[in-house]
Amino acid sequence: MTIFQKIIDREIPADILHEDERCIVFRDISPQAPVHLLIVPKKLIPRVGEALPEDEAVLGHLLLTAAAVSTRLGLNSSTEGFRLVINNGRAGGEAVPHLHIHLLAGRQLGWPPG
Ligand code: AMP
Repeated sequence: MTIFQKIIDREIPADILHEDERCIVFRDISPQAPVHLLIVPKKLIPRVGEALPEDEAVLGHLLLTAAAVSTRLGLNSSTEGFRLVINNGRAGGEAVPHLHIHLLAGRQLGWPPG
């Protein structure tokens, strides 16, 4: 069981900003920007590279949830902004094998990413 499943199951605490039947959104414990959220499907999809055609709706839901939460936090505007990141596999920097989208905001983000 991954650490994110334990958060979904309320076995360990997290700062949860949003939850619905398909996903949960909470603050990253080691923030890399003033706002650093994780958008996590309740279904255990290990990584985006292993998502199935049947996961299409939940994958779309994660992006729409990211947009809704960013709007709620005042980040979805022409003066602000945010970045969504999915790390996939070892070279991609993945540490937790339970699909998640990072939402980073609150500072100017560099490009290319490290
Ligand atoms: P990744 O490297 O893309 O797999 O990202 C995993 C993320 O999970 C990292 O940014 C960690 O800081 C974060 N993380 C690990 N444990 C926790 C936790 N208990 N609560 C919140 N975020 C966590």
